Amino acid sequence: MGQEQDGYCVIVVGAGPAGMAVANQFSKNGHRVILINRDCKVGGLAEYGIFPSKHRLRTGLQKTYREILARPNVSYFGNVSVGRDKDLTVEELRAVGADALVFATGAQGTKTIGVEGDEAIGVFHAKDVVYHYNQLPGFSERVFDVGQRVAVIGIGDVMIDIAHWLIRSKKVREVIAVVRRGPAERKYNPKETHAVCSNIDKEALAKEFGRIRERLEAVGQNPEQIHADMLAEFKKCDPAESGTLMRFRFLSSPKRVLADANRRVRALEVEHTRLELKGDDTAARSTGTFEEIPCDSVVFAVGDRVDDTLGLPYKNGMFITNPTSSGREPDDAWFQVYDESTGQPLDGVFVAGWARKASEGLVGIAKRDGEWCSEVVQRYLAGKATRTRPRLEEVYQELKTLIDSRQPDAVTKDDLALLAEVEREQAAKAGLEEFKYPTNHDMLAAIRKRRMLVSGAECATA
Ligand SMILES: Cc1cc2nc3c(=O)[nH]c(=O)nc-3n(C[C@H](O)[C@H](O)[C@H](O)COP(=O)(O)OP(=O)(O)OC[C@H]3O[C@@H](n4cnc5c(N)ncnc54)[C@H](O)[C@@H]3O)c2cc1C
Repeated sequence: MGQEQDGYCVIVVGAGPAGMAVANQFSKNGHRVILINRDCKVGGLAEYGIFPSKHRLRTGLQKTYREILARPNVSYFGNVSVGRDKDLTVEELRAVGADALVFATGAQGTKTIGVEGDEAIGVFHAKDVVYHYNQLPGFSERVFDVGQRVAVIGIGDVMIDIAHWLIRSKKVREVIAVVRRGPAERKYNPKETHAVCSNIDKEALAKEFGRIRERLEAVGQNPEQIHADMLAEFKKCDPAESGTLMRFRFLSSPKRVLADANRRVRALEVEHTRLELKGDDTAARSTGTFEEIPCDSVVFAVGDRVDDTLGLPYKNGMFITNPTSSGREPDDAWFQVYDESTGQPLDGVFVAGWARKASEGLVGIAKRDGEWCSEVVQRYLAGKATRTRPRLEEVYQELKTLIDSRQPDAVTKDDLALLAEVEREQAAKAGLEEFKYPTNHDMLAAIRKRRMLVSGAECATA
């Protein structure tokens, strides 16, 4: 470990694409990395967000993450949460004395758009649904009773993923994408529509363009062209497996969730909107005309915000970062957590990925953010070269003692390797492409059992 003694020690909280990118950069350069992760498994939304059918993408990322974890200078504590009233607090982590602390905890908070009645039974948030069908412990066993007619609010890739699940797994009667602005402002990647486009009700779409035609033309948009472009994107559609009809309701701003006497969703009230030009973009404006869309459930797919209970300075859905620009690209200030009460960055504390910019982009963007953050942390550390260096092994031991005292079921990287082995065997036995234990209890039991088997075999050969 001589090289490690010369290196830095960086604690990374969160082992999704951003945190793993930070771990990769620092460990590659011979520094010591300690990963702390809420979930037993690494990957974050790459494991529990990306649609289950995207096996190639998921297995490719899993392989990369396994290789990073396997490095001797990378340690892992899974099933350990950081935050107020969690296993460890931010202050405790800072006191351990690592050279830098990077928070790559993603966007775990729920964004709401302030719709009256959104506490009714049958109102869901997209991330919870996504975590459910991806079998994240805590969500895997929750019941999502969506009924037959589901309004999904949003027009991005997450709306498409939710529609995919509703069409192919739940096989509901109707999915209605409710959108504040128009079809020209659609945000999803056309490639992502293949799983839903066989179920899109093309006749209803034509009627919808008729309904909103004048409002599009009023801002110089060409309804025929947009309609044709949209239809042209629906290619290579997977064969339909259900009779679900997917429809779009554009220029409709959700105002109220209406519930029946049992507090169960019966409709979504929307206000018709019109578009107004705003520079190169458009904004939705109220019209004072309201309409009820009958539905059994409402799923908000409008993005996420960070977790304000983590214990980092927080404002308006984001952790506060340094407002002063350093003039660089990437700007160091973007990643420095900032304490407004002192007017200074929190020394040695950084954010990356969706923890820095909630719901911003795909895995590649989160990975690049982690890499940028690593550059910023390297610059910070180089500037502190003269201080007394903590002994790396002491930092690790102190942290391990603290974690052992708070979370006896912390998962190590060796445990993860055993778990992967067991899950692979289970998948092969069941003839599945992938098998996942749905609860932490099941995962921990499988790890324990396999550990005993391995140590039994080692004793027998000794
Ligand atoms: C529904 C959906 C589908 C997507 N599909 C795709 C796709 O097909 N292709 C693609 O490229 N991208 C996709 N993305 C985007 C991609 O998943 C994100 O860009 C990426 O995962 C963000 O990475 P991150 O590391 O910042 O956060 P996350 O992936 O959210 O990782 C955060 C990590 O932090 C941990 N954590 C959270 N809170 C704590 C805490 N308090 N203490 C300790 N650890 C904590 C979590 O356990 C997790 O491991 C999708 C996203 C969503 C929501």
